[in-house]
Amino acid sequence: HNYTREDILELVEEEDVGFIRLQFTDIYGTMKNMAVTASQLEKVLNNECMFDSSAIKGYPNSESPDMYLYPDLNTFEIFPWRPQQGKVARFICDVHRADGTPYEGGSRYILKKAVREAAEMGYTVNVGPECEFFLFHTDENGIPTTITHEQGGYFDVGPLDLGENARRDMVLTLEQMGFEIETSHHEIAPAQHEIDFRYDEALIAADNIMTFKLVVRTIAKRHGLHATFMPKPKSEAHGSGMHINLSLSKEGTNIFQDSSDKNGLSQEAYYFIGGLFRHMKAITCIANPTVNSYKRFVPGYEAPVYMSWSAKTRSPLIRIPSVGGEKTRIELRSPDPSANPYLVLAVLLAAGMDGIRNKIVPQNSVDEDIQDMSAEQLEQLHLEALPGSLLEAVHELEKDTFICKVLGEDLAAKMIAAYKKEYRDYSMQVTEWEIANYLYKM
Ligand code: GLN
Ligand code: MG
Ligand code: MG
Ligand code: MG
Repeated sequence: HNYTREDILELVEEEDVGFIRLQFTDIYGTMKNMAVTASQLEKVLNNECMFDSSAIKGYPNSESPDMYLYPDLNTFEIFPWRPQQGKVARFICDVHRADGTPYEGGSRYILKKAVREAAEMGYTVNVGPECEFFLFHTDENGIPTTITHEQGGYFDVGPLDLGENARRDMVLTLEQMGFEIETSHHEIAPAQHEIDFRYDEALIAADNIMTFKLVVRTIAKRHGLHATFMPKPKSEAHGSGMHINLSLSKEGTNIFQDSSDKNGLSQEAYYFIGGLFRHMKAITCIANPTVNSYKRFVPGYEAPVYMSWSAKTRSPLIRIPSVGGEKTRIELRSPDPSANPYLVLAVLLAAGMDGIRNKIVPQNSVDEDIQDMSAEQLEQLHLEALPGSLLEAVHELEKDTFICKVLGEDLAAKMIAAYKKEYRDYSMQVTEWEIANYLYKM
């Protein structure tokens, strides 16, 4: 959209909007919102809506906690699942201080900064995400479980696919909200689904991921199901990824393409990949920010384990889809949907730009399937593994001063401390696995 203030005033009036949600995202990728009635619209449009940020993760608790929500008018959207009289609408907002300066720890601010730096080099970044999720049953108290009665697998259709009705409803709702859905299908694991929407510029793509998750959760609930974006809800099944397709354009032309190259890629595309590899371990902390994320990075479930790229195989860390031409892109397969989409895109973009600026040549591609290789073969290729735990990833983030700068040093320090604590809390838990393996034996 391209809305002016007048457009919004008109829309709210004409559409009988009664309630407005002001949304933003905390550093852990959780959507937050404050709601006002339509009578407060003027105040909203004047950037006068204040909130106390001290209880929100990642926000300052000592310095003045009063923050203001500045609505991005172009993100105005009516929730189609709410009543059609006194409709509910939302804005996605930027967070500013009382003196009007943007809050540097805001997710959107960090992505906007990375987008601006790419724009200064003449690039627009296009992002196409592929979000996977599970639809599970809830118990008699409405509490989510990991139980499913369905046995569907990759691309199955009903009646095997019990989530099919919910998924169709999600797709139709997203379309009503202006999404262009390219495909939706049952994924490999029982109860696992994927819905892909059209690529867009980085900031819009990140906003879209947030809206997408809200819609998926809301519609699932209406069907009595619980949608989860947890990366690996079941140890014996595939995890959920959020593959990120990336390309750069200059003056409207995709500059990743070069038909004379054997992989169809331009020099810039290679450097971009080089930059991604240079910073990949630190990026992993942002793209895979939970203890659970690392349980997805195991062999046998189509998730990457080693850091390689290829235009031939299906499951490397970076895959070059064989589309070519204007659709040329690279697909990063490590991110999972527990990540904060703004921060992931910010670090990916910045790392890619670092590659272009410093002409970083990527390692050679590996065009045989790594999943089938022996330990010796892997050794010979000198392939490094992705970080094996949140703790390892945090240590990598700590070492990568470039990525810490992209996040802002204050925020990076805060995140590093928070992730270390999360890992410590997790490590103190005695798990069922330990009981099963040690209680009798020792
Ligand atoms: N679910 C797999 C993952 O963890 C991906 C499966 C696929 O889309 N090919 O990334
Ligand atoms: Mg896919
Ligand atoms: Mg998939
Ligand atoms: Mg994919």
